[in-house]
Amino acid sequence: MSEEDPSSSGAGRRPGDVLAPARCSFLRVDPRGYPIIAVIPQSPGKEDYGTLSEARKLVLATYDLCAVCALPFRDELRWQVGFDDQLQRMETTSGVFEEEVADLETTPRFSEAPVHEVCALYAAQVCPYVSSPHARLGDEVRKGRRRPKTLILAGFDRTAGVYGHASEMQSGAGILMFEMAGLRRTHRLTSEREANEAYTAALRDEVPIVLDDAERRLVEILSTPTPEDEDSGTLMAGGAWIVGAAFCPQVRQVDALARRFAKSDDSPWMKMAATFAARPEDMADMTTFTDTSIAAATTWFATRETVPALLQQWRADGRRQVRMVGAPAPRGSGGTAQGIPDETAIRRRQEGEKARRRDTEKARRKQARRRKR
Ligand SMILES: [Zn+2]
Repeated sequence: MSEEDPSSSGAGRRPGDVLAPARCSFLRVDPRGYPIIAVIPQSPGKEDYGTLSEARKLVLATYDLCAVCALPFRDELRWQVGFDDQLQRMETTSGVFEEEVADLETTPRFSEAPVHEVCALYAAQVCPYVSSPHARLGDEVRKGRRRPKTLILAGFDRTAGVYGHASEMQSGAGILMFEMAGLRRTHRLTSEREANEAYTAALRDEVPIVLDDAERRLVEILSTPTPEDEDSGTLMAGGAWIVGAAFCPQVRQVDALARRFAKSDDSPWMKMAATFAARPEDMADMTTFTDTSIAAATTWFATRETVPALLQQWRADGRRQVRMVGAPAPRGSGGTAQGIPDETAIRRRQEGEKARRRDTEKARRKQARRRKR
């Protein structure tokens, strides 16, 4: 098929023609058969493949879930999608591919929440609007413009940070950004054949993800409309807010979330989040709340041995902030009088990470030199 024929694009096969990964079994499908992936606004009948739901992004970040299938990452890489130039620079700055690394300063940031490898490759097969790069691809294909030559999928070790960011496109809107770290692998897909082959291989190697009861409950609520037949994303953001997302750096930049959860420091949502950060044991009765999102969130929290790294970080920041605004400081903590603005915390963390990366790189080079001798 010719390059101009939209159906020759990997991102546009009929969903019915493509076998879905087993982990996508919680997803509803729209009347055309397209899977309704976890990150899009999904009021029944109004699923919007061209948009990302900030409420859903916050939920995915909190519980460390994949933006396509809504299941946890476990120890799998976290993948982001981009085109030619977008990830090119990253490949040469990450230190993974090049021995001579000039610039380790760049930490790749994305407006999208990461996904599993098999889910990224599946989305590239069936969802023209799965994410903004795909949406662009879809639009260009429909308008008959030339398709970008290379689709790059990049797999990272971890999500290093998530924070609110004032939108450059729309004043006052604000979006969540995802900072990725530890680039391990990439797929460069230059043709439909390559996309198919990569997906077939990932599907063959797919490892089943087994959920415990609390995880299953989260995934089910997130993938199902509310009893009022609405998108459950905002509802789920409430539970996420309480277990720690309230302390996601600069989350108030995201208008839709700020309006609902953070009108003031003493809004009920902020109070519950503060108490849950400082003394989760005092909130044990929340596991039976009538608000299904809060009940599911706090049950999940209470049954974890450890919570995802990002949430740990948010909760630690939350505890510090709670101490600062006058709650009795635990003995020996010597709490400071002044709040630390979010930007300072981010900068401090980024500087720490930069220093660590520099040290790792130095050590690696030293070792490489030693080997050469
Ligand atoms: Zn997935």
